[in-house]
Amino acid sequence: MKIGFIGLGNMGAPMAANLANAGHQVTGFDTAAVTLENVSIAATAAQAVAGADAVITMLPNGQILRAVAGDIIAHMRPGAALIDCSTVDVESARAVAEMASAAGLLPVDAPVSGGVGGATAGTLTFMAGGSDAAFEMAKPLFDIMGQKAVHCGDAGAGQAAKICNNMILGVTMIATCEAFALADKLGLDRQKMFDVVSTSSGYSWTMNAYCPAPGVGPQSPADNGYKPGFAADLMLKDLGLSQQAAAAADADTPMGQAALELYRRFVEEEGGRGMDFSAMLPRFEKRTRNSG
Ligand code: NAD
Repeated sequence: MKIGFIGLGNMGAPMAANLANAGHQVTGFDTAAVTLENVSIAATAAQAVAGADAVITMLPNGQILRAVAGDIIAHMRPGAALIDCSTVDVESARAVAEMASAAGLLPVDAPVSGGVGGATAGTLTFMAGGSDAAFEMAKPLFDIMGQKAVHCGDAGAGQAAKICNNMILGVTMIATCEAFALADKLGLDRQKMFDVVSTSSGYSWTMNAYCPAPGVGPQSPADNGYKPGFAADLMLKDLGLSQQAAAAADADTPMGQAALELYRRFVEEEGGRGMDFSAMLPRFEKRTRNSG
């Protein structure tokens, strides 16, 4: 396939490289200067998408996605797929899908989980929203860039799944970290805490697969000075999107709201910017009940 790829950052670059290495003809564009083996770089977004069978976007947010979509849609071949893999607000995903459909394109919102490691290894999970025809067209590309793709429903359903998943993840990470900090103060050995919880009803992905305590459980960012991994800044972004969606849909999400506020303080006021989201554990370690 001839593929246009817009947004060649931490995630987009390895995803585009995997498509090129699988034999697709990939033309990329990024506002930053990028070079990528086997991917030709176009001078403009419009040039990158001209004649493409599918265009993939991997951009920072919904506002930028809307602007890029406004630039490229008129230059795309009718019948081509427009696959947005960025994490954006549900409203932007739906607005872009509407614009693309009106131009005769097949839009899919397909945010990912798996992070930079998954993007590099080609093991991402895609959560997709769009028509059956659009999903079928995108599926072979998902199979190269990832190991699983779930068709969640119509336009916006992929973003909805992503932010609900990450709201659970953020809340669970906080719960796991505060429990470790409590266990410390109760004199409980961290390894024993892991041995019990990871095989009891408190188990979770954050405990079992991504344990926030260094030297305990499988290798995780905690064993690497809390370098991301999945950055606290990105968790803050996703929790913000979840609460934006909850407000628009009139959903009561008190734990998501509390997690948003904790990650906001952590990133903006407590040195969490640039740290992995599991660095909530050293944050709790330093605090007392009256820390405020
Ligand atoms: P990034 O900042 O590394 O990459 C974004 C790229 O978009 C940058 O290279 C930037 O120069 C480019 N860009 C910005 N405006 C542009 C424009 N108008 N035209 C063309 N290119 C433009 O971010 P990332 O970590 O690659 O994340 C991309 C998306 O994936 C985000 O929506 C993020 O929330 C999501 N995501 C990231 C991770 C992760 O672990 N990094 C995991 C899951 C999802």
